[in-house]
Amino acid sequence: MLMVIGCLGFCVGSFIHVAYCRFSPSQTPLQYLFAITIKRSACPQCQTKLTAWQLIPVISWLILKRRCYVCQQQIASRYIVLELLMGLLFMLIVMTKGINNHSLILMTLASYFVLLALIDFNYYLLPDFLTQPLMWLGLICAYFELSDITIKSALTSILFSYLLLKIPATVFYFITQKHGLGQGDVKLFAAIGAWLPYEWLPFVLVLASSIGIFYYLCLKYALKQKWLTVIPFGPCLLISGFLIDYLV
Ligand SMILES: [Zn+2]
Repeated sequence: MLMVIGCLGFCVGSFIHVAYCRFSPSQTPLQYLFAITIKRSACPQCQTKLTAWQLIPVISWLILKRRCYVCQQQIASRYIVLELLMGLLFMLIVMTKGINNHSLILMTLASYFVLLALIDFNYYLLPDFLTQPLMWLGLICAYFELSDITIKSALTSILFSYLLLKIPATVFYFITQKHGLGQGDVKLFAAIGAWLPYEWLPFVLVLASSIGIFYYLCLKYALKQKWLTVIPFGPCLLISGFLIDYLV
């Protein structure tokens, strides 16, 4: 069973990579949906469409010896890294939590969060058409009692998490006339709120801020990026939100 879960993680990792590579900030939701579902995968170098066996995660990468079957262009390591990461993460969730609703939710959130984190990390952008479904999915799961919180608790958490970031962001803007926090981050935190009891949201924020400060200091002083002024906060919120949901 664990092997099946691991293979499922490889496949999901492969899909997340496709979904990340085919994202463009100028796309409409419909264009993005088309790009990730209808379009067949091709070699980025020679544009040859991949055959069915070349789409099998991990195994095709090993058989092809990290090269395109046609033009021999080297395949980037990030494909296999993401596939293995998701496979291991799925196995870890099932090993520690068993096979139940909570594990299924954790695997879904992990996949969704990794995609959002990659997009925000690269584009400094969290599109509404990706964060809003996360909130609606949380509400649907709460309504049908699939997640650990009630629909009333989910609605309270959404409002609480929205205000928890919106109020300081607004105050900061009035004082400095600068945006200290992106609107995408506020909406993302509200979406995360749909999955957690409101009591845990301040912990998510404190942990996310700690991750953000640590990341900023690492870049600024350890990697000597002296002119750094902005970091993406979305990945910090996503890592923190996932960890708290995993632990509670
Ligand atoms: Zn090629």
